[in-house]
Amino acid sequence: MAASVTIKGVSKSYKKGVPVLLPLDLEIHAGELFFLLGPSGCGKSTLLRIIAGLLEPSEGKIFFDDTDITAVPPEKRKAAMVFQNYALWPHLTVFENVAFGLRAARLPEKEIREKVNDALKLVRMEEFASRKIPSLSGGQQQRVALARAVAVSPRVLLLDEPLSNLDAKLRDEMRMEISRVCKERSLTAIYVTHDRREALSMGDRIALLDKGVIQQIGSPVEIYRRPRNRFAAAFLGGVNFVTTAQFKGQPENKTLLVRPEMIEIVHTPKDEHCFEAEFLSGTFLGERSELKFKMNDGMILDVTASAYEDLTPGNRYTLRVSPENISVLED
Ligand code: ADP
Ligand code: MG
Repeated sequence: MAASVTIKGVSKSYKKGVPVLLPLDLEIHAGELFFLLGPSGCGKSTLLRIIAGLLEPSEGKIFFDDTDITAVPPEKRKAAMVFQNYALWPHLTVFENVAFGLRAARLPEKEIREKVNDALKLVRMEEFASRKIPSLSGGQQQRVALARAVAVSPRVLLLDEPLSNLDAKLRDEMRMEISRVCKERSLTAIYVTHDRREALSMGDRIALLDKGVIQQIGSPVEIYRRPRNRFAAAFLGGVNFVTTAQFKGQPENKTLLVRPEMIEIVHTPKDEHCFEAEFLSGTFLGERSELKFKMNDGMILDVTASAYEDLTPGNRYTLRVSPENISVLED
């Protein structure tokens, strides 16, 4: 039921000569929770709308399983969409909102009732069936929107920044909920966000986009630990870009990435991966602190540590980075 999605050479220009998406290829497996991650304006929603059929690509083809659906209208694609602003009908009850797609498909009333109740149960909203939308919180509204999308047993579930309107605590909770729903129903889901934490915590795989180009595809761990280039490295987390001259035993003349949390402060130098640096300052952030050190050649290193009470600004300390925690970048 859940389909794989294959994107072949898809590009988009809204205005002639101004490409928003350059020709790109992508394969999303059936049952996968796949993320399109990138900064605002990089073309994520454009690609999602093309997959939904709401927008025509300038070039290229889209397949659901082996079927070319490029020319198939949106309502026949069996893709369901969840938006940032929920797009629920305020004058209808929760039940009727969730039933909407099923009524449009003219299913028998008994089946509609079953599917709506199932979907509401799945998102833990069964007690709210007769409520009107404006009486619900943002998080509850997003659960209803999710139930509506899942109720039609979509071949592909498309989510466009679904958590952007929620406060931080609710967002964490809804992340878990969306992951759970996708996995319980074995959905193929394509999730658009600019929030790296959402993509890293929920995604089976991530495609990182910048300026209409896929920069990298991989699992959250791969893409975080082994980013291909400076953009990918910096978009996914804290960075120190260092050089081969500063860190021995690395190939040729390349830019290297050392993540701030991969730098240890050690008491006594124990091997050739240790070096000295001057402690400059620290910022206490609760569960972690962000420290600045100056290397012998003057470069400032960002270091994440659990605490820094025992460090004195101006004093020199021994730092260490294991070679396996240094990544070689392409640019
Ligand atoms: P994202 O979702 O990654 O923030 P979008 O896909 O919405 O990015 O937009 C990508 C680019 O295309 C942006 O520069 C945006 O201004 C432009 N764009 C989006 N929609 C339209 C449109 N309907 N007409 C013209 N330009 C558009
Ligand atoms: Mg968008």
